[in-house]
Amino acid sequence: MKDTINRYYNRYRDDIETIVQKIHSTPELSEQETMACKLQVELLENWQFDIQKKYKGIDTAFNARFGKGRPNICIMSEYDALPGIGHGCGHNLIAGVALGTGIVLKELIVKNHLKGCVTVMGTPAEEKRGCKIDLLRAGALEDVDLVLMAHPSDHATSQSMEEAGVMQFLIRFKGRSAHAAAGPEKGLNALDAVRLLFNGVDAWRQQLPETCRIHGVIKDGGKAPNIIPDDTLAEFYLRSFDSNVLLSMKNRFENIAKGAALMTDTTVTVEEISHSYKPGKPNNELNKAFMKLADEYGMKPEWLAPSRASSDFGDVTYEVPAMHAFFNITGENKEIAIHSKNFTQCAASAHAMEQMGKTIKILSQIGFMYLTRKAFRTKVLAAFPFGKKTKE
Ligand SMILES: [Zn+2]
Repeated sequence: MKDTINRYYNRYRDDIETIVQKIHSTPELSEQETMACKLQVELLENWQFDIQKKYKGIDTAFNARFGKGRPNICIMSEYDALPGIGHGCGHNLIAGVALGTGIVLKELIVKNHLKGCVTVMGTPAEEKRGCKIDLLRAGALEDVDLVLMAHPSDHATSQSMEEAGVMQFLIRFKGRSAHAAAGPEKGLNALDAVRLLFNGVDAWRQQLPETCRIHGVIKDGGKAPNIIPDDTLAEFYLRSFDSNVLLSMKNRFENIAKGAALMTDTTVTVEEISHSYKPGKPNNELNKAFMKLADEYGMKPEWLAPSRASSDFGDVTYEVPAMHAFFNITGENKEIAIHSKNFTQCAASAHAMEQMGKTIKILSQIGFMYLTRKAFRTKVLAAFPFGKKTKE
């Protein structure tokens, strides 16, 4: 099996690596990924995939499918960059993994006359808005049975981790400005309200489960020391591994904000911005398959503890059995952190290309197992706790 997959991958390797390098050298921000989207669509069109551009009404999303009937295995692609540092999250390599796995699975379907499809789905704006949530709300996963994806990492190659869910809020306090020295008694201080909000949150931390996270910044704290600030803005993220805890955190957070307003006689609005991301719940059978193969490919995989970070992939894990594995691209250098310029450099290195190639072969083999082995499908479905719309 490995030899066959290797042969198919080598046939397309140059095309894939060329696109991965082009996306890397022309970084595009979330929702502006027009070139990255076009390059992938053109290649998939050449490979006889059926293409839907602007998928579900999102300009830089796409859906590319090959084959007939079920199961339908979907590989998700990401391709947005970060402001200022380019591909510091290595999403160019995620696109490479999706293209490579897509084409190898297509070859395997054709060669073995298999029933079923392979889909490469372009999911933009992971860094900003979480377009996967828009896509799945629009029904993009309705006829999908399995989702596979892999993300480059500064840690060891690892399984799809449990991830925290996140909610994001903008908090605006409105007071009344006045001269801070000549007439402060005429003012209502909206910066005091922000300070009390931070203090209230800090007092709350001790009572939270250890794995929760709250972090905030002041976006607007006033204009000048001699003006009582009348309009201030803070932004906060709340995170937890439990959706119910997250909802109760939202409630408490809003009450703290209201308390801060009450203490300062200001008014407050708490606005939830962006989608909330659900806590990611990985599929253990897919993880076991990935880890075994990663070991066989010499990637020295390690089972890592749950990640306190969040991704719009979390919501996908409630729809169908899904895997968001990680592959190391930083090698022996433990100093390099994801979301840094050094990581951006790594994302175009020969080592990254090699790790991407291995990951493609692993995901292809898992996809092939799902298409051809009933026992594997049954185990994966049994490990999926949300029992919805997947077909055997
Ligand atoms: Zn990322």
